[in-house]
Amino acid sequence: MTTFNQKDDSVVVIIGSGAGGGTLANELCQKGIKVVLFEAGARQSTETFIQDEWKSFQQFGHPAGRVYR
Ligand SMILES: Cc1cc2nc3c(=O)[nH]c(=O)nc-3n(C[C@H](O)[C@H](O)[C@H](O)COP(=O)(O)OP(=O)(O)OC[C@H]3O[C@@H](n4cnc5c(N)ncnc54)[C@H](O)[C@@H]3O)c2cc1C
Repeated sequence: MTTFNQKDDSVVVIIGSGAGGGTLANELCQKGIKVVLFEAGARQSTETFIQDEWKSFQQFGHPAGRVYR
């Protein structure tokens, strides 16, 4: 894993890899800007993701329940 000095102000830190944070991280990385992206939710894959809009709510967001609950 890449590590950065906490005083390195060329690194952008994004909290949350959802629609906003994930999109922003992708755009910045494509421009060569270093990004650290924190995500509190569980990792999902195409195998684990529930392909039902209502039931999939339980898989979204922060585990402490601050998002979508
Ligand atoms: C079932 C469903 C269907 C939807 N369909 C559509 C659609 O068709 N079209 C549309 O435009 N919109 C749709 N939306 C709405 C859309 O998903 C949201 O508007 C959008 O995801 C909001 O983006 P966001 O980046 O603000 O938050 P999110 O996408 O919720 O991302 C926030 C992320 O931050 C993480 N997080 C929170 N707290 C912390 C923390 N302290 N540390 C680290 N990580 C943290 C969360 O786990 C989450 O991953 C849908 C929403 C749902 C639930």
